[in-house]
Amino acid sequence: NEPYDLIIIGSGPIGMACAIAVQQKGLNYLVLEKGALVNSLYNYPLYMTFFSTAKKLEIGNVPFSCIAPKPGRQEALEYYRNIQKHFALNIHFYEKVNGVQKQEKGEFAIKSDKQNYTAKNVVIATGFYDIPMYIDVPGENLPKVRHYYREAHEYAFRKVLVIGANNSSVDAALECWHKGAEVTMVIRKGEINDRVKYWIKPDIENRIKEGSIKAYFYSEVTAIHENSVAITTPDGDITVENDFVLALTGYRPDLDFLRKAGVNISSGINCTPQYNPDTMETNVKGLYLAGVVCGGLETHKWFIENSRVHADMIVNSIIGK
Ligand code: FAD
Repeated sequence: NEPYDLIIIGSGPIGMACAIAVQQKGLNYLVLEKGALVNSLYNYPLYMTFFSTAKKLEIGNVPFSCIAPKPGRQEALEYYRNIQKHFALNIHFYEKVNGVQKQEKGEFAIKSDKQNYTAKNVVIATGFYDIPMYIDVPGENLPKVRHYYREAHEYAFRKVLVIGANNSSVDAALECWHKGAEVTMVIRKGEINDRVKYWIKPDIENRIKEGSIKAYFYSEVTAIHENSVAITTPDGDITVENDFVLALTGYRPDLDFLRKAGVNISSGINCTPQYNPDTMETNVKGLYLAGVVCGGLETHKWFIENSRVHADMIVNSIIGK
């Protein structure tokens, strides 16, 4: 079988879109996925709702039908499982890629935790959801601190502090409050992030205004203790009683993985990987990026909706060679 024409790392929606595109061209390919199919979506909050309509999450021209205007996690998992049933993509699940190296002959050596492979081309579609943005304060490693939120039940009747003002933080704050938690938010800026879903933003703003959810703006957590949290606010340093901290301050792609593969990363704060926007090929010939990994630390820049197109761009570039 080897060398493969293409090895795709990651079976997120965009890795899957790449696999469909390359399969339809009859090339020899393999997808390596460290977890389950669409593993990031599998790890999303259980009752989350996508900001995109179902139509915009479609891949492979397969309709995604959904009764509500926007699908939730369960429906998205169902949809992408159906895609897999339909296309029978060549995916090895629970196989993590540890490194990609271009060889002198021009082919790539791909090492997974199970096997070594060779491929003429590689797509890195590893997303950004595996590494949280740590806040780097004492106590962050306590078991009561979470960087991923699943559901509200365990926080009911407890004092919960939510850090951040983006979609994940706001969804978690509202859900926990609805289920009976006493919620406090700590927000570095002076307002709820503008990118929060337009139908959710007024809800959180009103809960804050009426005092149901306490919010400290222009504030930062400085230390987390067993039963309290220290916060710096414009009115001085305070300590609040606390049972759980949801530090939902975002996630970041594995930039070291890209660097080790030879991809240049910009030196600015965004850490943007170098690629040709017409083909998605990086500075390493034959090595492509697809999906949200392309944005570096600008993780809001790419999403399923606007990065599905990477699949055809990459496959056309490979075929054109
Ligand atoms: P991912 O889905 O993250 O897939 C990457 C895959 O690579 C994962 O399965 C991972 O396990 C695998 N992987 C990583 N490293 C390795 C390795 N070393 N070896 C093997 N496999 C590896 N976007 C939208 O368009 N609309 C929305 O409404 C929307 N809502 C969102 C809600 C939340 C809560 C979040 C967090 C994101 C949302 N996004 C949305 C963004 C979107 O879900 C992600 O952009 C999407 O998952 C990106 O797809 P991807 O294929 O690029 O990456």
